Amino acid sequence: MLKLYNTLTQRKEVFKSLEVGKVKMYNCGPTVYDFAHIGNLRTFIFADTLRRHLENIGYEVRQIMNITDVGHLTADDLNQADSGEDKMLKASKREKKTPQDIANFYTEKFFEDLEKLNFKKAHFFPRATAHIPQIIKMVEILIEKGLAYKKNGNVFYDVTKFKDYGKLSKKKIADLKENARLEEHPDKRHGYDFALWLKAPKEHILKWESPWSLGYPGWHIECSAMSIEYLGETMDIHTGGEDHIFPHHENEIAQSEGCTGKEFANFWMHVRFLLVDDKKMSKSKGNFYILSDILAKGYSAMDFRLLMLSSHYRSNLNFTWDGLKQASTNLKKITRFETRIRNYQPLTEAESEIDFKKYLADFTEAMDNDLNTPKALAILFEIISETNKEIDNQKLNQKNLDLIKFAWEKINKDLGIKIEEKKFAQIPAEIIDLAEKRSDAKKGNDFSKADTLRKEIEEQGYNIDDLPGGNYAIIKK
Ligand code: AMP
Ligand code: ZN
Repeated sequence: MLKLYNTLTQRKEVFKSLEVGKVKMYNCGPTVYDFAHIGNLRTFIFADTLRRHLENIGYEVRQIMNITDVGHLTADDLNQADSGEDKMLKASKREKKTPQDIANFYTEKFFEDLEKLNFKKAHFFPRATAHIPQIIKMVEILIEKGLAYKKNGNVFYDVTKFKDYGKLSKKKIADLKENARLEEHPDKRHGYDFALWLKAPKEHILKWESPWSLGYPGWHIECSAMSIEYLGETMDIHTGGEDHIFPHHENEIAQSEGCTGKEFANFWMHVRFLLVDDKKMSKSKGNFYILSDILAKGYSAMDFRLLMLSSHYRSNLNFTWDGLKQASTNLKKITRFETRIRNYQPLTEAESEIDFKKYLADFTEAMDNDLNTPKALAILFEIISETNKEIDNQKLNQKNLDLIKFAWEKINKDLGIKIEEKKFAQIPAEIIDLAEKRSDAKKGNDFSKADTLRKEIEEQGYNIDDLPGGNYAIIKK
């Protein structure tokens, strides 16, 4: 039975979808003004793992992830992020390109990261700039309902008018009033109101006609407008990083529920921040990494994915290079395991007593428990170590082996670990030749020759793994 932690109710709840067998999920996506950093990737890997697990236990998932290409202003430190420069415009000045070119470039790079990390692609990646009519329509409804007000071409949401404001973040308007970090805008009634539409300064490139001004949308409204467009008024699951609880998701609720009068999302799931060397990532601290920094150090995207899965999404994860090295060692263990089960020739008279079915059930139970990936991985590594022992002792028959293969396939539907096929296939003839010679040398008890041949194989970039009965497997390093 799947249980998920819901930020809204602040407890783990049994998951029940709105429609039997179907899940509607919205993931707040990247602001495409720069490369996604490894913290962003942690949050997206969580969303991908959640989708994978839902599908693995039988749901049909409709997944939408937005691309923010306008309206996200730089004043992130001020909670409402309603002031400062537009992140897209800032990047556009930095790189001397149009905001559209910036968005296209970084969206492309984001998709490349997703591919490398073996993501299942969301069914749709809507862009904010392609949904201005839907955004305007929604803002009009909010004004009509008296939840929003216009002033000097700007439109703000009056949070005092929405009775449930604060229900996600558990913030009270009375406390917000004292929050000095909220941005004062001369046209706002209250500092904690937030922008739905802003009048564009003359030099602003990204701007659209609207009933209020030539301007651009506030950051939060795009997610309300696009999720309703693609998922309807109520969805099952909405995800993001912990920083989104307030104000972004709180404001999404105010906008969407204010508009429709219906519950916006049944489950709200948030990922704790990734830290680097125990600190918040920032460019000035020099601890800011993107996926290509990891690849440049000789690690693979799968090493990184495995590292992300090794901690629970609701705990802070501290990224260190040592941790990545450990993940890389673990990935090698998984690769070796897969090679061994692919190549092992079972003996008909053998019979393993290990209950691999139980292991698979334990794995699923761990994942069903609010996606407990560290526990699930620990179970996988037990399966691997038991399998290795059984192979070494020639204890597996065909049925045992088939069950192990089935379990691994099912487990990996959740984990999404893609081991490059080149690790298994297309071993060059000369390597096979050396391996055969080594096998002959071993049979003839010429172990020093066998050793020399092994070294030669390794120098050429391959590892040789002995299996019982004189068999072996070759893995590309
Ligand atoms: P952004 O591109 O800034 O809109 O962020 C994309 C996603 O990454 C959002 O869901 C953020 O909450 C999330 N995020 C930002 N920084 C981190 C971090 N250090 N660790 C985990 N998630 C993060
Ligand atoms: Zn969002």
